Amino acid sequence: MARFPRKNVSLIVQKYGGTSVGNPERILNVARRVIATQEAGNQVVVVVSAMSGVTDGLIKLAREVSSNPTEREMDVLLATGEQTTIALTAMAINALGKKAVSLTGAQAGILTDGVHTKAKIANITPRQVHQFLDDGHIVIVAGFQGQTSEGRITTLGRGGSDLTAIAIASAVKANVCQIFTDVEGVFTCDPRVVPGARKLEEISYDEMLEMASSGSKVMQSRSVEFAKKFAVVFEVRSSFNNNPGTIVKPETRSMENVVIRGVSIERNQAKVTIVNVPDKPGTAARIFTAIADAGLVIDMIVQNVSVSGTTDISFTLNKDELPGAKTVLEPIVTEISAKDLIAQDGIAKLSVVGIGMRSHSGVAAQLFEALSAAGINIQMISTSEIKIAVIVEEARIAEAANVAHEAFGLGKAK
Ligand code: ADP
Ligand code: ASP
Ligand code: MG
Repeated sequence: MARFPRKNVSLIVQKYGGTSVGNPERILNVARRVIATQEAGNQVVVVVSAMSGVTDGLIKLAREVSSNPTEREMDVLLATGEQTTIALTAMAINALGKKAVSLTGAQAGILTDGVHTKAKIANITPRQVHQFLDDGHIVIVAGFQGQTSEGRITTLGRGGSDLTAIAIASAVKANVCQIFTDVEGVFTCDPRVVPGARKLEEISYDEMLEMASSGSKVMQSRSVEFAKKFAVVFEVRSSFNNNPGTIVKPETRSMENVVIRGVSIERNQAKVTIVNVPDKPGTAARIFTAIADAGLVIDMIVQNVSVSGTTDISFTLNKDELPGAKTVLEPIVTEISAKDLIAQDGIAKLSVVGIGMRSHSGVAAQLFEALSAAGINIQMISTSEIKIAVIVEEARIAEAANVAHEAFGLGKAK
C-alpha cells in the first residue's frame, strides 16, 4: 500500500544546479535539505545537474579526441554528467537513512525529438516516478537529458536541467516547483556584474524570458517558455540558505507599474556588416537564407535607409559563429555585387527589460542619455515591446550595466 496517499500530501519538485552539487559535501547538504522537505510531509522529486564544471570538462574531452564529434555521441557523453550526480545524491540520502532512487531521463519517461544536443521534450510519462513516490522514495531525476522514441539518448541544450525540472513539475502536477541555485533568486541584474543588484520578489514569465534570452543565464530561456506555456509557477532560490527567492508567474496588473524589471548583458557578441548592398528585392532574403541554411543563429538586424541605390546591412551573432558566417557570406557578397564584408568582435549587448515599458514612454531616451553621460558609445539599437537592447564595446559592458541599473533606480534602497 502507498505510504503517502497522494491526495493528502503535497508534491514538490526541487532542482539543484551544478554549484549546489559541486562536491560531496554539497551533495550531502542537498540530501539533508531534501530529507527535511520529505519529513515536513511532502513527496519529493529532485532534479539534479552535473557537478559544476563537469559538462564543460566532457565537451573539452570530446574535442581532444575529435574536432567534429557526432552529436549523437556528444549526447551519450554529456548525459553521463547528470548520471553521476543522480547516483551520488541517491547514495547520500540512503546513507542518511532514507529511501531514495535515481532515474535517468529515459527512466523518468522523458521523450524528446531527435535533435541532438538541443532536443525538445515531446512528452513525459512519469510512471516510474509515481510508483517510487507512492512507495515512499525520494526520486532523483537526471536533468538535461531524455531519449527519442527509438531509444537514442538526447540532451536539452545548455542549462537544460531547468527545463527538466519544470517539465517534470508539469507532468506530475506538482504543487510546488523550486529551482535551487547559487544566488538567492532572480536579481535586477547579475549580482556578479552589478554588486548593488536587488533580489526581485516576483517577475512575470515574459520578463524572465526576455532576461534569460538576453543573457541572464540564471534560468534557461527554453525552460521559461515551457513554464509559461503550461502555467508552471516556480521559485528561484538559494541552496545555501532558507531565504525566500523569486516567484516566476503570470503577469498581474500591478507588475506594469514597474517600468524596468531588470538589466541583462551578453558578452562574446560579434557584428557583421555587408557594405553597399544593391537595394532590390531578394538580396536580404539571399543573405539570411544562406545564414539560416548554415544553422547560424543571429540576433539584431539593422538595414540603413538606401540613399543611392545601395544600403548597408548589419547583424549580430555569437562570436563563435563568426568564422562560419564569413565562410557562408563571402561568396554571396560577390554574387549580389555588394562592396565589402566587415566582421568585428569585441562587442556585447546590454538589454533593459520590463512589461511596464508598454505603458510608459521615454525609456529609450533615459537609457541613451545615461550611457552618453558615461561616454559609452552605442553601436546598434533594437527594441521590442518590453525590451530595449544596445550593442556597446565589450570592454565597457559591466560599466554600462551599472550605469543603466543606476539610471533606472533598480538598486537596493539606500
Ligand atoms: P545553476 O548551476 O544552479 O543552474 P547557473 O550558473 O546556471 O546556476 O545560474 C546562476 C547564475 O546566474 C548566478 O551565479 C549568476 O551569476 C547568474 N545570473 C545572471 N543573471 C542573473 C540575474 N539577473 N539574477 C541572478 N543571477 C543571475
Ligand atoms: N549540465 C548541463 C549544463 O552544464 C545542464 C545544466 O546544468 O542545467 O549545461
Ligand atoms: Mg543553470
